[in-house]
This record gives sequence, C-alpha cells and structure tokens, in this order.
Amino acid sequence: MAIRLFNSLTRRKEEFIPRESGKASIYACGPTTYNYFHLGNARMLVVFDMIRRYLIYKGYDVTYIQNFTDVDDKIINKAVEEGYSPKELAEKYIREYFKDAQTLNILPATVHPKATEHIPEMIEIIEILEKKGLAYSINGDVYFAVDKYEGYGKLSGRTLEDMKAGARIEVDEKKKHPMDFALWKNSKEGEPSWTSPWGEGRPGWHIECSAMALKYLGPGFDIHGGGGDLIFPHHENEIAQSEGCLDNEIFAKYWMHNAFITINQEKMSKSLGNFFLVREVTEKFPGDVIRFYLLGTHYRSPLDFDDEKLIMASKGLDRLKNSARLATEALSKILPDEEPQIEDELLQASKEARRAFEEAMDDDFNSAQAYAALFELAKEINTYLAKDKRQPYSLTEAYNTLKELGDVLGFDLEEEEEDSQGGSGKLLQVMDLVLEIRMKARKNKDWATADLIRDRMKEIGIVVEDTPEGARWYLK
Ligand SMILES: [Zn+2]
Repeated sequence: MAIRLFNSLTRRKEEFIPRESGKASIYACGPTTYNYFHLGNARMLVVFDMIRRYLIYKGYDVTYIQNFTDVDDKIINKAVEEGYSPKELAEKYIREYFKDAQTLNILPATVHPKATEHIPEMIEIIEILEKKGLAYSINGDVYFAVDKYEGYGKLSGRTLEDMKAGARIEVDEKKKHPMDFALWKNSKEGEPSWTSPWGEGRPGWHIECSAMALKYLGPGFDIHGGGGDLIFPHHENEIAQSEGCLDNEIFAKYWMHNAFITINQEKMSKSLGNFFLVREVTEKFPGDVIRFYLLGTHYRSPLDFDDEKLIMASKGLDRLKNSARLATEALSKILPDEEPQIEDELLQASKEARRAFEEAMDDDFNSAQAYAALFELAKEINTYLAKDKRQPYSLTEAYNTLKELGDVLGFDLEEEEEDSQGGSGKLLQVMDLVLEIRMKARKNKDWATADLIRDRMKEIGIVVEDTPEGARWYLK
C-alpha cells in the first residue's frame, strides 16, 4: 500500500511519490541551541523520527537532514547570561541535545548541519535574489521583497493584505514593504559576524534553512517538516527565498507540520513560560515512556500534558513489554518447530496485527491507531500463553512481529525497566501510594506522620512539595 500524507501546502492528504524511486529526502527544522529542548520541541523531533523510521521500514533509503540554528539573538543574549561566548554556548547545547535525543531514542540525522558552517551558501543565495530584484540592501541589511515574489503566502494561505492587517508591525523605515524580512543583518559591536558583500554581518534565520536544505537535498526534495508554529513566517519565507532563487522550481514537495503540546489548553512555549524541559520530565519518567506518550496521539492533533497522561503511557508500554517478556520466557522452555500446516489463531493474529499497523501508518502516519494493533497482538499472545497446546513457531512469529513493529515506532520492547533516569513505572505507582498515605495523615491532622514521610523522602533524594493542587514530588 502506498503512504498517504497530509500536505500543509495543498491542505489535503496526498499519495507519497518521492522525487527518486526508492529514496526519501527529509529536511526538518532543528532547534536553536540556547537551552535544553522542551517537550513541545520533543514532539516535533519524535514525530519526524517516527516518520523516518516508518519510511525505512517501507524500504526507502532515507536521507534525513536536521539543522542546528547556532547563531541567533537568543543565543547571543543567553551567552552573556551564562558567561560563555555565543559559539561555546551553542556547542554546549548541541552536546546536550544529543543526550536528550538519545534518551528519547531519536536517531541521529544523516547530517546535522550548523548554520554557522554554511554562511557562504547563504550569501550565494542572497546575491542571486538581489540580482533578480527579489532582495534589496540598505546600510548593510538585506531584505527580501515579498511583493516581488508572486507565490508569497501560499503555504500559510494568507494574502499580503491579511498579513498586514494581522501582524503587529514595527515601523521600520528601511523596509519597502512592512512584511519584508531580513536575509542578512548588519552586526552590532561584539556580535558574531562574517564578511559579506554588504559588510560585516550575520544571516537572518530563514535563509539558513533554505541554504542547508538545498545544499544537502537539492531542489524538489520530498518532505520539509517542522512544528506547526513554523508555517508562518519561517516556512513561508523559506519557500519564497528558495523558489525565488531557483527560478520558481519547486523547493520541497510535501510540507508536514505537527500540532502543539498544550498545558491546560494553552500552547506550551518558551515565550509563554509554561514549558517543561525534557531534562525535567526524565527525572520522573523514563525516555521510552515520554516517547510512548508523544506518539500516542496523531501528530496533527493537539496533545495535552500532565503527569496523569504519562502514567497512562507508562502503563500502556508496560503491557506491551510484559507480553514480550512472557513470550520470551515461554519460548526459552520449548523447542522450536517447523511452520505448521494449518495456521493457528496466533499466527493469524500476527499477520492481522502487521496489516492493521501498516494500514494505520500508511494513513498519514497514524501512530495512535498503530498502537491499537500492538495492543491487540499483545492481548492475543497473553491468551495464547494461557492455553495448554501452543506452537513454538506461532509464538516466535508473534513475538518477532510485536518486537519489530514496536521497533518501527522506536520502542525496544525487550528493554527492562530501568531506573538510571531516576524514574520508572513502579516508582511512580509507589510514589502515588506514599502521597496518598501522607494526604490521609494530613486530613487526620496527624502532622507528625505527614512530616516524617516528607523528611524521610528528602533523605532518599525525593522532594515532596505541597501546592494548592495537592502534593507534588520530584527527584533531587
Ligand atoms: Zn527551518
């Protein structure tokens, strides 16, 4: 079956037909490296990792490019705060990125290009745009002229008039049109800068991705991805610059965007301050549980965050791991046999699970629906193990199928629960119990017991805090 995916550019599901048969090329906008990444960023990273893994499972040779934006106002400001140079700060958070990515079992990209290592490529594009009259420079700044590019607004579905009406536009005397955006910025004293035809300066954010995507994937590559908040202006601008430079040749064929993570129905974001770093969440929950939570909802639907949802995810993942473990144990006690003449119900269930899994994933990478196929197979394995007469062949097949499909989504179902991250399903359940007992003691005004629990917890490195919403805990 062919894969169908939702293309943000055409606003409908389309069959995935790659530029080159058997190959798939993906560019995903990576993080700006001035902090650890938060759960909202993690959703995007895990979603595109899942898409990549499924394409590999379907037999595609996948090239996956994910950049680091390592020059930016935020980096410059944060560097001053932390007492590093901007370069050192960016390097630090790139190292930290790989630690968190590994915790979430996100595969390293084919290439992780850094913006600062592609300045000549950016300058080259800007020069072409200037020659074509699509860009103009003023006192060391270069702007893209949005009204000179006919397709501007095609991704976000907005006209220039809408944008002008919708945006809070700072009056900038230098710009010819209020929506024009910077391709190159004249650098201020002490900022990182590079020599260019327009003087010492640094690139704008949008041009970075155009330059790196075109360098590693070339025009007309398959999938350009990112979080939904990048559609405008970032991706709209990427299209305008790239296609402007390419004589309107297509830049990327399919544009894919994941929805937000919300907390109390509000978008999780750095600017709103209501975000959780992956680093913080892994103090309570193992990486695979966080990943299981992130993929448990279709990537285009909003996903709400609270501890309860992660506890649910932990239980779900445990069910799958449990069936895999029971199957291995049973298999270790019986001798292998040949493929049976007649398929028993477990062999049929394995085939059905694979079919249902692929059907879900082919339909715009519906990982939530794919979970259902895994749960169904896990249930069949458990039922089968309770029977007297079992065929080792069928059990092996079922186990391998469960393991393989779990792997496609990035879960190692053989992995034992581990406490190295400081959390596990069992710990969560024990902590639920401890806090419940403490709450009862407080209700009975048994302050001595309540305090004893809190103090003893502190001794073992678990901080219990009382909040208006009840007690919370975290590992010290
Ligand atoms: Zn980008």
